[in-house]
Amino acid sequence: MKTVACQCGSVRLELDDLDILGSVLCGCSECRLVNTILHGLGGPVVTSCLRAVYLKAGHFRIVETSSEPCARRLRLSARSTTRRLFCARCRSVIAMRHAMYAESVFALPVDLVRSDFEIDCSPQAYVGMIDFDQDFGLIDDALPLFHSFRYQQELRRFLSIARFSEIVSLHPHGSRHPIDDELNRLPVMDLDHGLQEHELVQPSCLG
Ligand SMILES: [Zn+2]
Ligand SMILES: [Zn+2]
Repeated sequence: MKTVACQCGSVRLELDDLDILGSVLCGCSECRLVNTILHGLGGPVVTSCLRAVYLKAGHFRIVETSSEPCARRLRLSARSTTRRLFCARCRSVIAMRHAMYAESVFALPVDLVRSDFEIDCSPQAYVGMIDFDQDFGLIDDALPLFHSFRYQQELRRFLSIARFSEIVSLHPHGSRHPIDDELNRLPVMDLDHGLQEHELVQPSCLG
């Protein structure tokens, strides 16, 4: 059993049969909005792109470790196709699951979580760069760069990179994985109209 936790430890992921598939630096507007929220709440400043690691797990369980439940399903907008596991106490994102992911795949914002095992995977591509309107400030000029997977030719080129083909399901309406059931049972926190203060768990009342 391996675990990944949020910054404060109130929300934990229990994982088994893990496989690291790859890593990207994501410049998309959703990831940057999450970074802005974290920064606004005193969290780490992510000035460039978010580093995400794709993993595959046979076992995926969300565990609350404090008396007051903090785990939420963060929805950035009605159009968003990514569900995010969020801690309402430390305001951090623990995992992401896009509608296109294969059934046992999820992503970790690896620099923003704490894990009890080594997640050693250097980025292999930049993705979502069509949204990234700042000076790119690229960490590695040699990495392939993708603007948007709305363009089929870009998606095909991305999936041709070793192991990235395992991330996306060609049959996204197939059988559901326990990851979906785990995320779907959580209360939704909607960011469409800003983060509502009353929905957050206060950092002082540590259970
Ligand atoms: Zn937390
Ligand atoms: Zn992103």
